Amino acid sequence: MRDLRSPPLTQRDLAGYRVVAVHAHPDDESISTGGALASLAARGADVLVVTCTLGEEGEVIGETYQGLVADEADQLGGFRIGELERACRILGVRQVFLGGPGRYRDSGMVGAPSHANPRAFVNSGEAAVEDLAQLLAIERPHLVLTYGPDGGYGHPDHIRAHEITHAAARRVGGVPRILWAVRLRSDLEASLPADAPAGWSYPAPGELDAVEAADTFVELDDRAYSAKVEAMRSHATQVWIADGYAGQTNPHSVRAAGPVTAYALSNLKTQAVTRREYYQFGEGVELEPGADLLSGIEW
Ligand SMILES: [Zn+2]
Repeated sequence: MRDLRSPPLTQRDLAGYRVVAVHAHPDDESISTGGALASLAARGADVLVVTCTLGEEGEVIGETYQGLVADEADQLGGFRIGELERACRILGVRQVFLGGPGRYRDSGMVGAPSHANPRAFVNSGEAAVEDLAQLLAIERPHLVLTYGPDGGYGHPDHIRAHEITHAAARRVGGVPRILWAVRLRSDLEASLPADAPAGWSYPAPGELDAVEAADTFVELDDRAYSAKVEAMRSHATQVWIADGYAGQTNPHSVRAAGPVTAYALSNLKTQAVTRREYYQFGEGVELEPGADLLSGIEW
């Protein structure tokens, strides 16, 4: 049995472990779990990101690619494949789309007309469970990461990702542990920068989707933290990093001073890339409070 209590992160102490992360859209892997995935991969674990949709219904930050959105050229999904590919290379993880690229479509927010599309992920039924079960049967992960029953922030595709993950794991059997990525409110709010960039707003107290308690966390070392920030930056149509960077997708630069890197999604609410990622216990082998994500799982 390996001792995972305080592993030096330069050591490939997780070689032989396999991890699968099930996410709804391109960018979720980086925003929700990028630090953990980079850390697990750096420690030698084989990590596979399963992305359930192309994120076709997303909004776009910056003027350059506004014409790609669903109501215009409807080319955003294909474009986001490139963003996701770069992000996963930075994190050091493999990536596949559930059922193949374009099999399931972004359902959009609650009540959106895009729910009516027969390919919308909310309509994926048994097919999506079977697609994921086949992947889990091949990968045989020691750990699966996804979201809690509320999808983390209520997006129907995130809720669906949660549902199919648990259903597929039960169908296949033998998945030792499922954890849910969450954000801890106290950590999130304490990490906000003192000055939001011009044009950005602060989330109202309690506005950010977060939980009051979690079961464990991953402390991001400098390498995992910068990998997460760079992976988020790769999703430039979706994420605006406030560290002065400008690029072709979003040729505008903003800067927020603070202890950690700040960013915004298309709603321009100021958020922080926190130094810790928090997880709640989902199913399987329980873990001690604060324990390593793979603690107690043997192979
Ligand atoms: Zn998402």
